[in-house]
Amino acid sequence: MHANIVVLPGDGIGPEIVAATLPVLEAVAARFGHAFGFQEHDIGGIAIDRHGEPLPAATLEAAQRADAVLLGAVGGPKWSDPNARVRPEQGLLAIRKGLGLFANLRPTRPHPAALGASPIKSHLLEGVDILVVRELTGGIYFGDKTRSNSDATDLCRYTVAEIERVVRRAAELARTRRGHLTSVDKANVLETSRLWRDVASRVVREEFPDVTLEHQLVDSMAMHLLSRPRAYDVVVTENMFGDILTDEASMLAGSLGLLPSASLGAGKVGIYEPIHGSAPDIAGKGIANPYATILSAALLLRHSLGLEQEAAAIEAAVSDALDARVFTADLAAPGQAVSTTQAAAAVIERIQ
Ligand code: ATP
Ligand code: MG
Repeated sequence: MHANIVVLPGDGIGPEIVAATLPVLEAVAARFGHAFGFQEHDIGGIAIDRHGEPLPAATLEAAQRADAVLLGAVGGPKWSDPNARVRPEQGLLAIRKGLGLFANLRPTRPHPAALGASPIKSHLLEGVDILVVRELTGGIYFGDKTRSNSDATDLCRYTVAEIERVVRRAAELARTRRGHLTSVDKANVLETSRLWRDVASRVVREEFPDVTLEHQLVDSMAMHLLSRPRAYDVVVTENMFGDILTDEASMLAGSLGLLPSASLGAGKVGIYEPIHGSAPDIAGKGIANPYATILSAALLLRHSLGLEQEAAAIEAAVSDALDARVFTADLAAPGQAVSTTQAAAAVIERIQ
């Protein structure tokens, strides 16, 4: 197949990890007989420097016409003045909105070779394979806000349609995995959560009789995620709970440098990026871990291009490289680290 992929390297280590990932996609294209076109555009701090705004119109238009978007990272100390008129992170929010993305997927599957990097006991982590689906467009982060000298409010609002579409997406994903869906809310206290629970129950009952649905309160979920992570398959939750639980879940895998993400909407185009930030402390040194970005490319193949076999080939190659202890500095023992490019080369070798 031919696919048009928009590439947004961004800031900090973004350009390095994206540059390491494109040859991996080329290797997949060569092995499976596809043609991927890459079109590079600016987003984040570099876009502020070059165009005066974090999401230039040309970037959004290219993304809207693309089959998928691969993104590195945005932000850094150069643009972090709290009084600045524009900030790199606004570019991310704007492109998600411009593409109508409402579901953020974060898979966590701790790799046996990296278990030691997690603060959680290894025996609890064996066999863990969790996919958190976080709602991205609603809830308290986007509700009306007020502030006076004596108080402040943040309004939490969800519509039935917003809950339906994200639960539906999560249930579809559960169907392709182990068929188990956990919906997380705070229905003992919050009205939005009672609506969430009712809608989730109805959608799964009416449309996904083959999926098992379980409801969990977010406080007990925060505990169980660490005490019995193997119990979960797909977890779906609203925006703020998802923000908090995905960071918690990332600790199961040890290094931030191993965790990919996908943001999906109603159409095929999605944004694929590592969950980590621009890591300004190590930028430009060629030592960043490229695996999270390479695994994001695998999600791109799976979710935007429908290339499951190709996605699995990347995931297997990364897994083999980890088995062979091809580690960048974030995972390696002192003196044993490979460079960003060497880690990517180890993946490419295993794809060819
Ligand atoms: P955000 O930009 O989302 O606010 P942050 O500033 O909290 O993120 P990161 O930029 O992700 O954090 O960096 C946190 C720490 O993890 C830093 O010390 C950084 O060097 C390290 N780190 C992040 N990504 C990687 C990577 N791919 N390889 C190696 N180290 C990384
Ligand atoms: Mg950062």
